[in-house]
Amino acid sequence: MFARADHHLIPQQGVCRSRVLPKVTTRLLYQEDSYLREFSARVMRVDGNVVVLDQTAFHPTSGGVDHDTGLLVVDGTRYRVVDVKLDRSTGDVLHILESEPGLNPGDIVRGFIDWDRRYRLMKLHTAAHIISAIMYRDYGALITGGHVYPEYARDDFSIERFDRRIFEDAIAKANDVVRQGIEVKIYWLSREEALKIPGVVKLAERMPPDVERLRIVEIPGIDIQADGGPHVRNTREIGEIVLMKVENRGRRKKRIYYTVRP
Ligand SMILES: [Zn+2]
Repeated sequence: MFARADHHLIPQQGVCRSRVLPKVTTRLLYQEDSYLREFSARVMRVDGNVVVLDQTAFHPTSGGVDHDTGLLVVDGTRYRVVDVKLDRSTGDVLHILESEPGLNPGDIVRGFIDWDRRYRLMKLHTAAHIISAIMYRDYGALITGGHVYPEYARDDFSIERFDRRIFEDAIAKANDVVRQGIEVKIYWLSREEALKIPGVVKLAERMPPDVERLRIVEIPGIDIQADGGPHVRNTREIGEIVLMKVENRGRRKKRIYYTVRP
């Protein structure tokens, strides 16, 4: 989301400093396929109720998008994943389990994503990109913060006028984009190529991390930005965006809350 200002830049690969296997590259499967609901992985580290895997489809809270929940299963024993965090210093994805698991490094687990929750995060996330692109295009407003929860999303825009009609207009236009059924494209570019795209990174402080390849999320004709999170394949999947609330949080900070139906 963060419009053009790129927020959830997660490096494609993180180097994990495992105490068990000296150097591991954590593979973020959700960046390759947002629709992957099940996967197998090797346990790299267990620390109390925190588990690190060699690869994962679980999205950690990052870039303004909430985490997944689900299950890790080994030999018929199910462990509930209640939270997922990104260790920014190592690139490790930390799976926080409800209880301490009987797992050891080297074990192969099967992971299952709670799909209803994830799919709503994807719909709201792609909706956030569309809304922020329209707010920038038509009102010159930059997105300065926000968060996508499964139930709703909120975004802050740097705009002085506090007028609910501005947001009603932006949401109506965003729903036109939803109805057009635009295919969302996800691809990788070298850092050099990516940074040549106008608007791919709007704010200097949101410069992508120092990685060689950047993941680009493009809604053709609407938005293009470097982005690490899961998205729907087609804007039509979003359904309908509904404006819930508008708040004046300061001179250049107007906040909106919205959700998607169904
Ligand atoms: Zn995003």
